[in-house]
Amino acid sequence: MHQENSEVAQAQSPEKIRIASCSLAGCFGCHMSMLDIDEMVVEVLEHVEYCRGPLNDVRDLHNVDVGIVEGALCNEDNVKVLRQFRENCRVLVAVGACAITGGLPAMRNHYGLTACLKEAYLDADGVVNPAIPCDPELPRLLNRVRPIQEVVRVDYFLPGCPPPAAAFAELFSALMEGREPVLDREMARFD
Ligand code: SF4
Repeated sequence: MHQENSEVAQAQSPEKIRIASCSLAGCFGCHMSMLDIDEMVVEVLEHVEYCRGPLNDVRDLHNVDVGIVEGALCNEDNVKVLRQFRENCRVLVAVGACAITGGLPAMRNHYGLTACLKEAYLDADGVVNPAIPCDPELPRLLNRVRPIQEVVRVDYFLPGCPPPAAAFAELFSALMEGREPVLDREMARFD
């Protein structure tokens, strides 16, 4: 886990630690791995208030201790949500390859946005009524998928696809104990 400051240690307070999470261009696999901490969930819930996440879909965000971000930046809505997290979370944690490097969604960068849209909506086998979606309600796609640290400052990185549950357990333990998280080699592997 790369760390640039001691913000996690400072996030501890006598109150419950307020955590928010989001999935930008991600598959929710990192969130599933976060839930794999098994019985530790009980201890975490005693110390943590989970104020926003993909399950409760709360839009407001304020006074958050730790923001956990899964997924890359594919569209303008992703960027807006990410900036909201950075502005309102004292500590920001990038989890998973997509958030850290662009990961799987960034594969489209090799071909270009126009070519990908053309292939998906016009030229692919089995396409019926070929048309590239252009509803104004849809968020505008970015020309290039970007990792989140290209747009905002990130305090901690949990690598992996997804990061192992042990890495999340270490992050939560550090939060509850008011210390810096430490990932050993096994937790930081990429296979
Ligand atoms: Fe899914 Fe892997 Fe990306 Fe996490 S890093 S959102 S598990 S593809």
